[in-house]
Amino acid sequence: VAKAEGRGTWRAFKPEMDQQMQARRRLEIELHTALAERQFEVFYQPLMQVTTGDLAGFEALLRWNHPERGSVSPAEFIPLAEETRLIKPLGAWVLERACRDAAKWPAHLKIAINLSPVQFVKGNLVEEVEHALSTSGLAPDRLELEITESVMLQNSDETLQVLNQLRAIGVQISMDDFGTGYSSLSYLRKFPFDKIKIDQTFVRSLGDGKGSLEIVRAVVGLGRALSMKVLAEGVETADQLAALRAEGCDEVQGYLFSKPAPLAEAWRTIAIATKRSEARTLRGTSP
Ligand code: C2E
Ligand code: MG
Ligand code: MG
Ligand code: MG
Repeated sequence: VAKAEGRGTWRAFKPEMDQQMQARRRLEIELHTALAERQFEVFYQPLMQVTTGDLAGFEALLRWNHPERGSVSPAEFIPLAEETRLIKPLGAWVLERACRDAAKWPAHLKIAINLSPVQFVKGNLVEEVEHALSTSGLAPDRLELEITESVMLQNSDETLQVLNQLRAIGVQISMDDFGTGYSSLSYLRKFPFDKIKIDQTFVRSLGDGKGSLEIVRAVVGLGRALSMKVLAEGVETADQLAALRAEGCDEVQGYLFSKPAPLAEAWRTIAIATKRSEARTLRGTSP
């Protein structure tokens, strides 16, 4: 009986593994096609100034419009794109696309772009960024590059060198998903980031009395002390916004304002923000 059970388990297990590997292989092929056939699109999510309520810019978030499956989340395809190195051409494409879009926006608006750790390895990231800036005409100080601590974990000397070169071009560097990794604090000492993005897990649990509020408070203090701006991600409710405002967060981002949306929607957001600030100028009031 034991043997039969063992074999049964084996038989049930193996096809599943095959299926997983086949699905992965299929996804990999589809990713290549997607890049060639322009199935990728950059969505934009507003970044808001807390004290004024003004639009500060947008974060570029990649979407895959799959011919059968519809919009596929980056959480599903970025890891495989990283494993297969396809993230290199894909990342370069996002840089070009988002800089070109942002160059047409009013000049005070920033564009934040996520970088994968893979883009830092034996690559020409600095040249790619320079190219995206020069072909689009975007001023370097309008570009914010977001990295997670996984970037700092790998070969940190080389990474630091690249970060310093990027900084020398005049672009801003943000630490994304702050507080979720193992050693975020030590990285703040290794590189002078321009902005810290507090991960949405802390924002989501702000009201539960289990320390998130205190952590946010501490990170804002840290940001002040180190001259780094602090942005909170994943703001969904007015209560969360009120708490973040009270704590002195500089910027916020989340569904409360807008989900990531296509470029045309970003332009509508810009139009509304422009009208709002014009009305304010006419009234002669600031903020
Ligand atoms: P991220 O950079 O931390 O981006 C923020 C994520 O939070 C986005 O998920 C955004 O849609 C989501 N988000 C924003 N506001 C809210 C909210 O109020 N509530 C909730 N529940 N979620 C919110 P998304 O677009 O699915 O992207 C996931 C991750 O994929 C990103 O996390 C980033 O790490 C990665 N990613 C996206 N685009 C790119 C890209 O162009 N290159 C690279 N390397 N990674 C990218
Ligand atoms: Mg990000
Ligand atoms: Mg994040
Ligand atoms: Mg993230």
